[in-house]
Formats: sequence, structure tokens, C-alpha cells
Amino acid sequence: MSMLSGKHGLIVGVANKRSISWAIAQAAAAAGARLALTYPSERLEENVRELAATLDNPLIAPCDVASDQQIADLAMTLDREFGGLDFLVHGASFAPADALHNPFVETSRESFRIALDVSTYSLVGLTRAMVPLMEKRGGGSVLTLTYLGSDRVFPNYNVMGVAKAALESTVRYLASDLGPKSIRVNAISAGAIKTLAASGIGGFSAILQVYRDRAPLRRSVDASEVADAAIFLLGPASRAVTGEVLMVDAGFHAIGL
Ligand code: NAD
Repeated sequence: MSMLSGKHGLIVGVANKRSISWAIAQAAAAAGARLALTYPSERLEENVRELAATLDNPLIAPCDVASDQQIADLAMTLDREFGGLDFLVHGASFAPADALHNPFVETSRESFRIALDVSTYSLVGLTRAMVPLMEKRGGGSVLTLTYLGSDRVFPNYNVMGVAKAALESTVRYLASDLGPKSIRVNAISAGAIKTLAASGIGGFSAILQVYRDRAPLRRSVDASEVADAAIFLLGPASRAVTGEVLMVDAGFHAIGL
């Protein structure tokens, strides 16, 4: 596969080898792209550097998506090193632990703010910063990761569900704004996958079992399957697709009971 050959991409959201963003990074590199990977804090820097060392000539940079300054610095670094950008993968999400353990009705104003800032607003901030770089390439593709908890209630998903609902709406508004610049904006709604972020959701193993019992394919998905769909959305095969939420969830969303 060389669907992304000659392209430069930014991947935000690699924490460890289980991260969906890491699977996407590997697939994008295999498809020929040169990548920049970010880490949000010094604590995760080494992890990201170790993983990135397996890629060809990656760029590693800090980016806490809650910081406008760090996003601006990242855009400057990418402009200098890549001279533009073809795609952005946004795989950052966070909610304070109390908001994922207490009943949703008890969500504090501060936890709500943090969850929506890091998990949702960050797509707006990052995309805006990357628009000038994508314009240099005559367009681009932005991809984020969402979950069915945006639309339906899942135990303990709580404020993340609200953040994902806002994220999916954000995808549509950004797609509308940026379409005239040939910048496409889409999301993949992935089935449940055991990752670091998922381990913060109480009872996550029970959710996985429901997929095995009820999803049309009688299983959930793995990160490499999400990555394959991501390559489609990042590359030229999806050139007429924008404002879309693509379900990559073994069909679970189609089931009522
Ligand atoms: P993950 O924990 O590997 O990834 C989450 C990432 O968010 C981490 O890399 C973390 O460093 C990053 N992050 C958190 N706060 C940040 C900040 N302030 N600045 C920059 N980065 C920050 O888990 P994952 O499951 O791979 O999650 C990736 C995306 O996929 C998330 O948006 C998640 O909601 C979504 N998703 C996950 C599942 C699942 O079942 N695992 C299903 C559907 C969607």
C-alpha cells in the first residue's frame, strides 16, 4: 500500500502501543507517509519516542492540546520541518476520574469543562492551527475518533458521551467551514477496544462482552481495523467524503436489542 506516499501527517494521541492512534500511525507509515507524533507531558515522552523509533524519520514534538501556545508552537515546527501538512489524526481525549465514576448527574462544572476542552475543543484548536499548512498542499484530511456513547447511554461513559456528541457535531461544522479549502473533516466511531483511555471506564470488560454477544460480527474490533478505515479517510480514496462519522464497530450500532 502506498496510498499516502509523499504525504506528511500529524498524529496526536499516541500514549502506548495499545493506542488507536499508534495503530493509525503504523498504518499511515506503511502507506508511505512521513509522520509527526506528539506527547502531552514529559511522563509520556519516552513512550512516544520509543514507539516512534520504529518509524522512518519521524518528528516528535510536545503538545498538550489544552494549551493554545503548544498548539501554535507545534504548527510552527511542522511548517518549518514539513513545509506543510496533508493530514491530521486527532486521538486525544480525557475526562477527570470522578466524572467517570460518579453518576452523570453529579458531574462537576470543572470536570465537564476539562472533558469538553481536551476531548472536543482541541479538534477545533488543532485544526485551525493546521489549516494554513494544509492550504500549502492544496487541501488536507482531518480525522478524529469518537464512540457510540455520543448517541446512546453506556454505563460510566458519562461526560465522555457528551464530549463525543459535541465532537461529532464539531466534525460537521468544521467540514462545512473548511470544505471550500478542500480540507475534509471526518470521524471514525470505533467499537470498544481495551486501551489506556478505556481502562478509565468502569465495567469496560462487560461492554466488550456485550459486543461479543450482540454485534452482528459477534465481536468488537481491534485497533488495526480502525487504522485500515483511517487510511481510507486520510487518503485519496475518500476524496468526496467529509462531515462523516464512519462506524467501525463490527456493526454494533445497527442493533436495537
Ligand atoms: P489512549 O489512552 O491510548 O489515547 C488517548 C490519548 O489522549 C492519549 O495518547 C493521551 O496522551 C491523549 N491525551 C489526553 N489528554 C491530552 C492532552 N491534554 N493533550 C494531548 N493529548 C492528550 O486511548 P484510545 O482508546 O486509543 O483513545 C483514542 C481516541 O479513541 C479517544 O478519542 C477515544 O475516546 C477514542 N475511542 C476509543 C475507543 C475505545 O474503546 N478504546 C472507542 C471509540 C473511540
